[in-house]
Amino acid sequence: MRRVSIFGATGSIGQNTIDLIARAPQDYEVIALTGASNIAQLAMDAKNLRARVAITAHDHLLGDLRDALAGTDVEAAAGVTAITEAAARSADWTMSAIVGAAGLAPGLTTLQQGGTLALANKESLVCAGKLMLETAKAHEARLLPVDSEHSAVFQALVGEDMAAVERVIITASGGAFRDWPLEDLGKATLDEASSHPNWDMGQRITIDSASMFNKAMELIETREYFGVRPDQIEVLIHPESMIHAMVGFADGALMAHVGPPDMRHAIGYALHWPERRKLPVERLDLAKIAQLSFRAPCDTRWPALRLARDVMETGGLAGAVFNAAKETALDGFIGGRIGFTDMAEVVEEVLTIVTSTPGHIDATMTLDNVAKVDHVARQEAARVILNRAG
Ligand code: NDP
Ligand code: MG
Repeated sequence: MRRVSIFGATGSIGQNTIDLIARAPQDYEVIALTGASNIAQLAMDAKNLRARVAITAHDHLLGDLRDALAGTDVEAAAGVTAITEAAARSADWTMSAIVGAAGLAPGLTTLQQGGTLALANKESLVCAGKLMLETAKAHEARLLPVDSEHSAVFQALVGEDMAAVERVIITASGGAFRDWPLEDLGKATLDEASSHPNWDMGQRITIDSASMFNKAMELIETREYFGVRPDQIEVLIHPESMIHAMVGFADGALMAHVGPPDMRHAIGYALHWPERRKLPVERLDLAKIAQLSFRAPCDTRWPALRLARDVMETGGLAGAVFNAAKETALDGFIGGRIGFTDMAEVVEEVLTIVTSTPGHIDATMTLDNVAKVDHVARQEAARVILNRAG
């Protein structure tokens, strides 16, 4: 039996992970499930999977969680520290699927126990890629990608020599506003930005797909995870979301990973790696699909891609600034304080301010320093947003 934990169990990735685990309960001993606001879901899954502990990130919801788990053997806990403590209860396989920078600390603690961390939380690599990889190495832990593009690249690289890799192409559907007239983007509403043409995901990543901040983060994630240079990474708009990534080799070959837009493939691959096992995903009928299309991304429509390239060039803790500014700008858009296109402007302004202030982005990459610069960037972003509203 494998001991597994799921961080962010109540979210979109968490629920897809549970779907796979619940199909073969005899194979897994569930250690910890974590969530935040969705206590009913957390308690129900913890009961069904006979988890040892269920944890909500919100201290004030501990009473509700205890009530929901009354009469079961599942321990209830709450708070950020409890989540990190759960990460220290060594599991063989842990899913990192908390949304945002809050996923970094539990992921790092998990890596310190050895074992395998299946990483959906791309923010960890954007904020602290070097620290994540070094920690994995120091503790002989394994970091497996779950983001569909990165899982696809990982699979295309099996048995290959990195020295023969010329380029990595990650695809993007183009999100909700791919075909909108540019002049309408500023007026895009929250509802419009929250619906994705192909993927069913959490609200935040769905909006990030419309703004292309998701792909911008994935550019940085690709560089950190695979150690390729920024100029070797390309983004390709591919509206059908069937090819998730391609790897280009020195002999001109392109290895493409093709599959339906269903995260259970990438999650299942990370769960069963290095084996391939049967997964409940649709088998593509390419004759029926008939055509796949591609186009180059437009920098005017999606300034986030340019910002990510600036961040990679700046290096140091610029990724943490980028992520924190993006999270705050996204909160601003969700809260109705700024418009859709303001998000990229806010992030750009914060990057300029924080990266030009000495001592921030050139500090050593430790969890503390990442947290500090994250805090500074959030404060700056809040100020920039307030100024705009005023
Ligand atoms: P969701 O919003 O659906 O779920 C987020 C999870 O994190 C929930 O369990 C939520 O709890 C929990 N959570 C929210 N805030 C906090 C916090 N401050 N501390 C601890 N836990 C918290 O997100 P997704 O599942 O869509 O995404 C999760 C991660 O995976 C993200 O990093 C995303 O970029 C990445 N990813 C997602 C993909 C997808 O298909 N969804 C694809 C590729 C990557 P609750 O719901 O109980 O409040
Ligand atoms: Mg992705």
